[in-house]
Amino acid sequence: MVNIDCACDNEFARELASYLKNHGLEAKSEESIVVVSDADPEKLLRSFLEYTKRQEYSIRKIDPENFLVSKEVPIEDFGFFRCEMCGYVVSSEEELLIHRRAHGIQLL
Ligand SMILES: [Zn+2]
Repeated sequence: MVNIDCACDNEFARELASYLKNHGLEAKSEESIVVVSDADPEKLLRSFLEYTKRQEYSIRKIDPENFLVSKEVPIEDFGFFRCEMCGYVVSSEEELLIHRRAHGIQLL
């Protein structure tokens, strides 16, 4: 059994569970969690997001039994900066410059 956490979105979980059922899997939604019999639902998750035009969602595999599907929110909108080399997040441009130096690269 694999748990798919839909990030508190109960409606999303219901839709996903019925989509998986339509594809011959055993699936049920419990609030915002979908429990599915498939050992590797990642492919179907992707086609579900495509089918329902939810391109802004991303799938994260936490471990082989737990997936998280959530809306990607660009952190830049909240005044944060992300290191383009490793994804590290800082709250100011100065910190980002200092952090980048840790990669051994001097940016002029
Ligand atoms: Zn970095």
